[in-house]
Amino acid sequence: MGKASRDKRDIYYRKAKEEGWRARSAFKLLQIDEEFNIFEGVKRVVDLCAAPGSWSQVLSRNLYLPAKLSPNSNDSDLPLIVAIDLQPMAPIEGVIQVQGDITNARTAETVIRHFDGGKADLVVCDGAPDVTGLHDMDEFVQSQLILAALTIVTHILKRGGKFIAKVFRGKDTSLLYCQLKLFFTEVTFAKPKSSRNSSIEAFVVCENYSPPDGFNHKDLHLLLEKIGSPSGADDLDCSSGWLEGPNKVYIPFLACGDLNGFDSDRSYPLPKRADGSYQSLDPVQPPIAPPYKRALEMKKASCHGVQGLEKLSLDP
Ligand code: SAM
Repeated sequence: MGKASRDKRDIYYRKAKEEGWRARSAFKLLQIDEEFNIFEGVKRVVDLCAAPGSWSQVLSRNLYLPAKLSPNSNDSDLPLIVAIDLQPMAPIEGVIQVQGDITNARTAETVIRHFDGGKADLVVCDGAPDVTGLHDMDEFVQSQLILAALTIVTHILKRGGKFIAKVFRGKDTSLLYCQLKLFFTEVTFAKPKSSRNSSIEAFVVCENYSPPDGFNHKDLHLLLEKIGSPSGADDLDCSSGWLEGPNKVYIPFLACGDLNGFDSDRSYPLPKRADGSYQSLDPVQPPIAPPYKRALEMKKASCHGVQGLEKLSLDP
């Protein structure tokens, strides 16, 4: 797909470039905020799976920059934003970057160290594995990422805090809802207008973090597994009982973003200049070390003869 063609078919891709966002995902977080007011009173936030960084940009523009530019600004009082990803990303003002795997305990420890004993008001996670197209497999891997995020949440989020995470809707959505309901009094599945209807992606918005009395981090996985077994449902309050049959849980699901605004599934005409031409903008910040970089280098080398290709495939 050419750039101009994508600009036409994907209004949020075009708008992201016009407004200086690194990815169209920025609009998803902004639209979630329109509905849930997630940034209110937030001083400390963790952005899990943050690259290329459009959610971190949203956090910087909505939390860090207004505080920094305020006449009463005090360095020790500026919002703390910590962003983590497997991939490195170009710097963003007011955002501390950690490169690591969120499923690895050491990454969680590094994040916790940045908070220096303090707690976060908000944790967001837009993590996505490389999608295989096998729906059950993708949903499973996605749920593992959410559970890794939840592990970090249970260590770092303050009571009353919020957690937003990308989910793939599927047969285990009710189970995930029940698991999250153990820790948060409000759990809503949201579909921002900028997320295509054709995509199984949605976002779970968890409000008012209130872990069960006597909760011990070491028991997190036991507790979550218990929710997934029929015998566990009776003794754990999952708001409305077991997951199947007449007691099947009701999951609050909400469309958000300006519903009269742009529709991500529609094509829009391109704005033309006076001479009738259209100028497509370049991406705001291409990934600095994408996983496909080596494949591109190998392809380039193969155009310059086998020698170059052999050299690249030997050099790690
Ligand atoms: N929110 C980002 C933004 O607005 O620019 C987009 C995130 S992108 C959809 C998904 C990211 O998840 C990728 O950058 C990928 O590297 C990251 N990711 C996937 N699995 C991860 C893991 N186990 N640990 C850390 N990051 C991970």
